[in-house]
Amino acid sequence: MGRNARIAFLLLFLGIAAYSNWYDRLSTTDWDETLYIGVLPIDDSGNEVTRSYIARLDAERVRDIELFLNREAQRHGVTIDRPVRVELYPPVEEKPPERASDSGMLGNMWWSLRMRFYARRAVSATGRPAPQIRIFVRYHDPSFTQSVPHSVGMQKGLVGVVHAFADRSMTRANNVVIAHEILHTLGASDKYDPATLAPLFPIGYAEPERSPLHPQSLTEVMAGRYAVDSQTFEMPDSLDDVLVGPATALEIRWPNP
Ligand SMILES: [Zn+2]
Repeated sequence: MGRNARIAFLLLFLGIAAYSNWYDRLSTTDWDETLYIGVLPIDDSGNEVTRSYIARLDAERVRDIELFLNREAQRHGVTIDRPVRVELYPPVEEKPPERASDSGMLGNMWWSLRMRFYARRAVSATGRPAPQIRIFVRYHDPSFTQSVPHSVGMQKGLVGVVHAFADRSMTRANNVVIAHEILHTLGASDKYDPATLAPLFPIGYAEPERSPLHPQSLTEVMAGRYAVDSQTFEMPDSLDDVLVGPATALEIRWPNP
């Protein structure tokens, strides 16, 4: 597409997007009815390891994400029975559009537009009712991939892309990342220092009043890691050791942050 046509298209899109972002923000954070979240697996490595891992995924594998979010929502004053419902969707064939690392503002907007269309198309290809929030999980074979790209969750578009390892022993740790990206789509911000990965004090600490402060034993979900001491930060093994702190609860408009 030519550059001018692209800009004209983007301007039109921005008007629609501004309205839909406002509407999405209100409708996903009013907490008066169940919010539907879909987890859509993608076979990223395309080999036997990822294929058989995905084939064995079932609803039980994502259950702790829903239990975690509902437990924390209710602890922060949400009164409905099932604040969120997390469902595993059938695998998606098409991979999400890649964002160029040097794309600039226009390139980012273009990517975000393509991401919205992608999410809609991919969900409809599963033949299942569309969830409000779409989290695509790209599974990598751990024997070929030592480290995975950054996962993202976007409030604009209500879509997330998680990079995860196709390994049974990692399933519960993957769910911590999925929960983190879901909360990004609801407007929560990161609570760690991107340079050092240190949880921000006090908002990134699950137990900021603990004495002595270190080691922490629980993790604030948007910090992603807990501080063993002032220099050592570890990722939790599962959502059992994670909570939503007051700053995050405030951002996603839970009643009692
Ligand atoms: Zn994050």
